[in-house]
Amino acid sequence: MGEFELIRRYFAAAACARAGGEMLLGIGDDCALLSLPAAEQLVVSTDTLVAGVHFPEPCDGFLLGQRALAVSVSDLAAMGATPIAFTLALTLPAAEPAWLEAFARGLDVMAAACSIRLAGGDTTRGPLSLTLTVLGRVPAGQALTRAGARPGDLLCVGGTLGEAAGALPLVLGQAQAPETTALELLARYWSPQPQLALGQALRGRASAVLDISDGLLADCGHIAEASGVALLVERDAVPLCAALVEWLGPARALECALAGGDDYRLAFTLPPADLAPLREALWPITVIGRVEAGSGVHVLDACGQRLAVARRGYNHFASD
Ligand code: ADP
Ligand code: MG
Repeated sequence: MGEFELIRRYFAAAACARAGGEMLLGIGDDCALLSLPAAEQLVVSTDTLVAGVHFPEPCDGFLLGQRALAVSVSDLAAMGATPIAFTLALTLPAAEPAWLEAFARGLDVMAAACSIRLAGGDTTRGPLSLTLTVLGRVPAGQALTRAGARPGDLLCVGGTLGEAAGALPLVLGQAQAPETTALELLARYWSPQPQLALGQALRGRASAVLDISDGLLADCGHIAEASGVALLVERDAVPLCAALVEWLGPARALECALAGGDDYRLAFTLPPADLAPLREALWPITVIGRVEAGSGVHVLDACGQRLAVARRGYNHFASD
């Protein structure tokens, strides 16, 4: 199977590659053609996933397709954006029909869940890696950035944390868990659901937002730095899922939640007056701390004392 046959069979033919909405022209020409509604701005982000770094190899094609797109679209959620389209630069060691078919199905499932279309890409031979660029739109001036947190704001997250980090030893075949626990945690690792609707609901309310990819504390550090404030995290307020606590115990579950990566939940700061309207609309929001003047991210115990925290998150180029 040649390059063009591969593109035609697995990508151009995928349901998510059909033109429509803002995508006027998709796969097959030199470029895709997208329209942007008047008074909206384009939101763009790129992510690369490398075999052996971001996912194990060999790797189930379906699960990888789902996860790769979810991880990328999560960045659009963090900006309060509505997805439009994505491109896929795929480097493959070989063209294996069964694997490619499963991969394209995984992409399709997540693309349908996120209402995003495959606009194009590039296909090359080499060690397995994927680069996805996602495009979204946001009403002009309303994108949610990391830079607006103010002292007095609440620090919130959009759901339980730590399940994907807890699942990592299962993904790598280094641990085993009871079947129902394994299913729940592995689902959070392999098919995180980008919090698009929550992100859009936070427009005009949240003062700073990001999606947690490298660990709560590490990522909160980005808000603290961009906003020029300190973030205080109350240890006992961090939401943990029962399956994780039961399996690992409370201390290790908490460590997964604070420093483990791959959550893809939103973390955001919110003026206190904005909490009630969001909660009334039933958004899954947990207040885990607050913003103060100062710098850095600090974890507080039940008495409000600052705790020393050893591990804060994942960093590809950390020297330790
Ligand atoms: P060019 O050489 O002009 O860059 P290519 O031969 O790389 O074009 O790609 C042909 C068409 O197929 C383009 O529309 C491109 O966007 C699309 N394409 C290539 N690889 C992929 C892929 N992995 N997923 C989706 N579309 C792809
Ligand atoms: Mg090309």
